[in-house]
Amino acid sequence: MSASAAVERYFHEAAELMGLTANMRRLLLTPQREVRCQVAFERDSGEIETLIGYRVQHNNARGPMKGGLRFNKHVDDDEARALASLMTWKTAVVNIPYGGGKGGVAVDVNTLSKGELEQVTRRFTDELQDVIGPDKDIPAPDMGTDAQVMAWITNQYQKYHGFNPACVTGKPVELHGAEGREEATGRGVVVCARRILEKVGRPFEGATMAVQGFGNVGSFAAEYWSAWGGKVTTVGDRHGTISNPEGLDIAALKEYFTRERTVRGFTGGDVSAAEDVLVADVDVLIPAAIGGVLTKENASDVRADVIIEAANGPTTPEADAVFRDRDILVLPDILANAGGVTVSYFEWVQNRQHFKWTLDRIRTELDAILNASVDNVWAVAKERKVSLRTAAFLVGIGRVGHATVLGGV
Ligand code: NAD
Repeated sequence: MSASAAVERYFHEAAELMGLTANMRRLLLTPQREVRCQVAFERDSGEIETLIGYRVQHNNARGPMKGGLRFNKHVDDDEARALASLMTWKTAVVNIPYGGGKGGVAVDVNTLSKGELEQVTRRFTDELQDVIGPDKDIPAPDMGTDAQVMAWITNQYQKYHGFNPACVTGKPVELHGAEGREEATGRGVVVCARRILEKVGRPFEGATMAVQGFGNVGSFAAEYWSAWGGKVTTVGDRHGTISNPEGLDIAALKEYFTRERTVRGFTGGDVSAAEDVLVADVDVLIPAAIGGVLTKENASDVRADVIIEAANGPTTPEADAVFRDRDILVLPDILANAGGVTVSYFEWVQNRQHFKWTLDRIRTELDAILNASVDNVWAVAKERKVSLRTAAFLVGIGRVGHATVLGGV
C-alpha cells in the first residue's frame, strides 16, 4: 500500500464515524496545489545535473500551509502527498493556525558536496519562491535538510521578497531561529509518552524504552527519556541494534554516534541486527527513523505494550490492526511528533513579532500544548470507544472540516 493510500485509509475510518459526505471527503483529501519542478545545477566537475523537486500544498483552511522539505532519493509525489496531508491533520490536532504541506528534492544528499547542496537549495527556492512565504506556505527541515539549508532558503527567498525570516522555520538560532527547535520533536515525543503512561496508571520512572533511529528525533527522545528517569535499554539505526538491560549510557552513545555516524560498535551494550530494535522486550517502543517499519510480518512479534510514533507513518494499516487486536496502545504520529511543528510555530510567531522568547518559555508552552492535546485525544478515544489514532483523526478532521464550512469555498 502506498504512503498516501495508508493515510487515506486512516482518514476514511474517522470520516465514516463522523458521517462525512463523499463531497466533503473529496474536498478535504484533494491537495490544493502540487508543484513539480526542475532543479538544475552545476556539479563541482562542471557537469549540469537535473533533479526533480516537489511541493504539495494540501490544505490551508486553518492557516498557511506548513511542513518539511526532504532531500532524499525516495522523495516522490506520492510521499509528498501523504506527508502533506498528515501535516494538515497534525497542525489541527495540536490546534496551531496552519494547514499542511510537504515536499523535497529527489536526490541522494551523500553524493552532494556542500557547495552542490547549497546550489540545489537555492535553485529549488527559485522555483518555489512565488508559492511559499510567511502567509502562504512555510517550509521546515526534514530528512536530509537542516538549519543550514533553511538559512540558504531564507537568504534566497529574501532576494525576491526582502527581509522576511518567517518564510521558513528551523533556521539557525543565530539567524532568527528559535531556541529549542532542534530538540523539540524528541522532547515532545517523551512529553506525550509520559502523559500516556500516566493515563494508563504506569510509572514513567524506570519504564524501559527502545528507540529505532538515533538521528535528530531519536537521540533527543533517548536523552529526555533517560534524563527524566526512564531507562533506554535498546537503540537501533540502519546499521544495527545496541542493547543493555541495565540501561544504555545515552550521553556516551551520543558522543560515539557523533564520531562514527552509527550506534553499531558502541561498547556499552550488545550488538544485534538492525530490525531487532522493533521487537525488543520493553515497556515502550519509539520508532523514530522511517515510515512503514511496523508491518503485518513483524507486528505480532512486537513486545512493547505502548508504541509512540515519532517517525511519520511507521505503522502500516495491517500492523495497526494487529496492534488493536493485541491491545497495544499506539499514539499516532500526528500527535506524537507534533513537538517540532509546534516549536516551528513559536519561531514563526517570534519572527513576525521581532521578539525573542527564552528557552524556558518555549519549553513550557510546548509541554502545555502537547499535554492538552494528549488529554483531548485521550478523552475523545474513551468517549467514542476508538483507537488513539482514530481519535486524533476525528479531532484533526473535525477542526479542518469546521474551518472549511465556516469559510466556505
Ligand atoms: P534523521 O535523518 O536525523 O535520523 C534518522 C535515523 O533513522 C538515523 O539514525 C538513521 O540511521 C535511522 N534509519 C534510517 N533508515 C533506517 C532503517 N532502514 N532502519 C533503521 N534505522 C534507520 O531524521 P529525523 O529528523 O530524526 O527524523 C526521523 C523521523 O521523524 C522521520 O520519519 C521524520 O519524518 C520524523 N519527524 C521528524 C521531525 C523533526 O523535527 N526532525 C518532526 C516530525 C517528524
